[in-house]
Amino acid sequence: MRIDKLLANMGYGTRKEVKSLLKGGNVRVNGQPEKSPKTHINTEADEITVMGEEVEYREFIYIMMNKPGDLISATEDANETTVIDILQPEDTVFSPFPVGRLDKDTEGLLLITNDGQLNHRLTSPKKDVGKTYFAIIEGKVTEKDAEDFSKGVTLDDGYKTKPAELNILVSDDHSEIELTITEGKFHQVKRMFEAVDKKVVYLKRIKMGSLELDPHLELGEYRELREEELNYLF
Ligand code: URA
Repeated sequence: MRIDKLLANMGYGTRKEVKSLLKGGNVRVNGQPEKSPKTHINTEADEITVMGEEVEYREFIYIMMNKPGDLISATEDANETTVIDILQPEDTVFSPFPVGRLDKDTEGLLLITNDGQLNHRLTSPKKDVGKTYFAIIEGKVTEKDAEDFSKGVTLDDGYKTKPAELNILVSDDHSEIELTITEGKFHQVKRMFEAVDKKVVYLKRIKMGSLELDPHLELGEYRELREEELNYLF
């Protein structure tokens, strides 16, 4: 990779700013001053320093966010605030995007990365990655609903859902449930409950694969994934 691109990716400024950083003799590669923005770097082997400080190169970023119910899961939008808008500049230099979509009013676990392969693995219906939601439902959720969900229910557009696991926590006028689905159809959880004549009034994703939402993250907070959490996803 060209050194100007690498340094720009690592947050050392725009390509133009990086160029003058190089010109000013502030950058060294393997101990030798490097002034050309065109120089190619072997990210595995070369050691780069900027003003004496070593540049830790990495290609990917993996963020876990506890999404609040007022942000949209998109990279940019003309009218609404997106989950990317609230990231710090040192994170956005990686050009990250949300993995799959949560509705604007849905809270909870959202992964944000620039790793396209991971995105594919987690969102492809063929990969069968479970996504678990906690929900409050208007109406009494019953074991019959759980049985229906385990066989698949027919949504308003005629699509029959794959088997899903419904765990009833509270069954009353307002019920509390956990539901694990392995697909991600538009408004899927809400539409599955509509299929059994019930309404989702609160929805929060709590798990993707084996990765659980960190309970210490407040709504709107985020952090990078830890090494072992990353392993859960690969
Ligand atoms: N199902 C929904 O209905 N909404 C979401 O945000 C996620 C799953």
